[in-house]
Amino acid sequence: MLHPEIETMSREGIRELQGIRLQETVRRVYDNVPFYQKAFREIGLEPGDIKSVDDLSKLPFTVKQDLRDNYPFDLFAVPKSELVRVHASSGTTGKPIVVGYTQNDINNWADLMARCFAMAGATKDDTVQIAYGYGLFTGGLGCHYGAERLGATVVPISGGNTKRQLMLMQDFGTTVLACTPSYALYLAEEAVHMGIDLPASQLRIGVFGAEPWSDNMRKELENKMGIDAYNIYGLSEVIGPGVSMECQCKNGMHINEDYFIAEVVDPETLEPLPYGQKGELVFTSLLKEAFPVIRYRTRDISVLIEEKCDCGRTFVRMERVAGRTDDMLIIRGVNVFPSQIESVLLAIGETEPHYQLVVDRKGAMDDLEIWVEVSDKMFSDEIRRLEELERKLRNEIQSVLGISAKIKLVEPRTIPRSEGKAKRIVDKREL
Ligand SMILES: [Zn+2]
Repeated sequence: MLHPEIETMSREGIRELQGIRLQETVRRVYDNVPFYQKAFREIGLEPGDIKSVDDLSKLPFTVKQDLRDNYPFDLFAVPKSELVRVHASSGTTGKPIVVGYTQNDINNWADLMARCFAMAGATKDDTVQIAYGYGLFTGGLGCHYGAERLGATVVPISGGNTKRQLMLMQDFGTTVLACTPSYALYLAEEAVHMGIDLPASQLRIGVFGAEPWSDNMRKELENKMGIDAYNIYGLSEVIGPGVSMECQCKNGMHINEDYFIAEVVDPETLEPLPYGQKGELVFTSLLKEAFPVIRYRTRDISVLIEEKCDCGRTFVRMERVAGRTDDMLIIRGVNVFPSQIESVLLAIGETEPHYQLVVDRKGAMDDLEIWVEVSDKMFSDEIRRLEELERKLRNEIQSVLGISAKIKLVEPRTIPRSEGKAKRIVDKREL
């Protein structure tokens, strides 16, 4: 544990610390950000009304549209001269979401990410290959500063250039890989093609995130790479990677509660829900200077777990995010997350974990087709085996999701590979 005095603090101690920092944050946004001042005044709220974490629900929510409306810098709580860095979302259309950091923010983020790497068991003796994208995306640089703060040897290779990644991984003796789970899978596959035995290499830890993935995918990656794979969570609106991180118990991600307050709310009524109930995650930052956020609605669906973890940390945990409500497909009225389908595919285990969901509308009916890769060997087998597998997948999807889907088995390497976040959904419906 990198910060045991904080990570094992009593629950009362954490709440007290959060209360103090919450008051400072509320004062900071009220004094410096016209958007928040206006939002507070509209509901007749004064900064002094917030005295502890119990008052959190008096505060208004912030949503992604607020960030767009205040593009680029109007939500910042410091003058531009205090900013040392900005990051932005990679949106393909329209203006991106922009976030900013002071020098203190960058220092705090580095501490936070160092703590996260340590939670996965990394130390200063590790060599950390960072294959998240560097640039406006927070993944690359967020991990970079954290691994450096830990004292590890950083290989800032960024995403892509797969053969070179694998070569350097061997030559440099990389022990920790940080990237998206879909890219990790691609690396594992390419390693096999290149005749590289990853399980026999020095690689021992994977820090994977930035997209939803399933527990079955974890097992797959752990087997293929000979590693322990850990889930890391974050979003640039809140800070970037490091909002929460799995410990070695692999039983939910510890929220870094000295930096953030997490809530789960009912996405319809916006009422806060008790621990243990599923709803939308909402975060309030506690130490950020340049870009504080008050009750930011993430659109991510999860559950908060209060029970103490076997690792000894007292921070509340959050369950693996099934998907962002933005990525959720509604098919014939049923909510479908790509990660649920991934889980079914991996549980059956006779296909490759490369898949894509193609949705179309025929007449009034939504049509879901799941493209899944199978091995070369499977294709050279009898047609009867393919048909059997198709039927098995169709039945399992029907029983898990409660909807029918067409299964299309395709040859290896048919589905485009991604070097960042995987594109799981092709939605052809005109809604
Ligand atoms: Zn733990």
